[in-house]
Amino acid sequence: MNETAPKIRLHVETPLAEGVEIALDRGQSNYLVNVMRLEAGAMVALFDGANGEWRAELTDAHRKAGTLTVRDRLRAQEALPDLHLLFAPIKKARTDFIVEKACEMGCARVRPVITRYTQSERLKLDRLRAHMIEAAEQCGGVNVPELDAARPLLDVLGDWDAGRVLVFCDEARTAPPMMEALAGVARGTPAALLIGPEGGFAPEEATRLRNHPAALPVSLGPRILRADTAAVAALALAQVALGDWAG
Ligand code: SAH
Repeated sequence: MNETAPKIRLHVETPLAEGVEIALDRGQSNYLVNVMRLEAGAMVALFDGANGEWRAELTDAHRKAGTLTVRDRLRAQEALPDLHLLFAPIKKARTDFIVEKACEMGCARVRPVITRYTQSERLKLDRLRAHMIEAAEQCGGVNVPELDAARPLLDVLGDWDAGRVLVFCDEARTAPPMMEALAGVARGTPAALLIGPEGGFAPEEATRLRNHPAALPVSLGPRILRADTAAVAALALAQVALGDWAG
């Protein structure tokens, strides 16, 4: 048996444990057998988002169906920093980008919020989740962020968990730089980042945010960033200040 970790990594919904057999659907067998040219006996790595990463053997390989049999565990499950991303959905391709990057950046939960100036079609959660899964398969992570259905921002603020700091990315230039603002927050504190829509926050939303007891307004520098850029920048700084990017 090849003892190095297999190159192909797949996310599966089936809870993983030794001996579990996973029936491949048409798309999965097409990928493994036709595209990747694997034959029976080949090893792949699997993760389910809860039980770590496992080596699995392709025990039955056909072009339209197949079976993977789970062998041994390669890696235990790892916990992500308790970091949420709240963002107002924007155009499809940019929203896809945001959820993909949120996964790569180690965000635990992605929470779309509808604001007054949010302009977007209905979110297709399945499609967004598929983007996150693909990102997790590629970046070597064993987690796929949770993805919430979109909720109105004011409702989300209304039932906010008081123990979670709400890092509100405020382009109004009056807020302190994000690293400075987070210096007073202990590493490991549950946090959420809030990124507004392209049109910014409506005045009543901005007032509500500035007065919210959990909110910490922060600046991401002197330039106005597009929402997708702001999301990645804020996730990076939050991982350094509160999460798992620093020792
Ligand atoms: N109000 C804007 C643009 C909003 S940019 C306008 O002039 O139309 C989209 C979101 O990215 C903002 O709501 C904010 O959350 C975040 N953002 C962009 N640049 C930022 C900065 N320099 N500091 C803090 N947040 C920023």
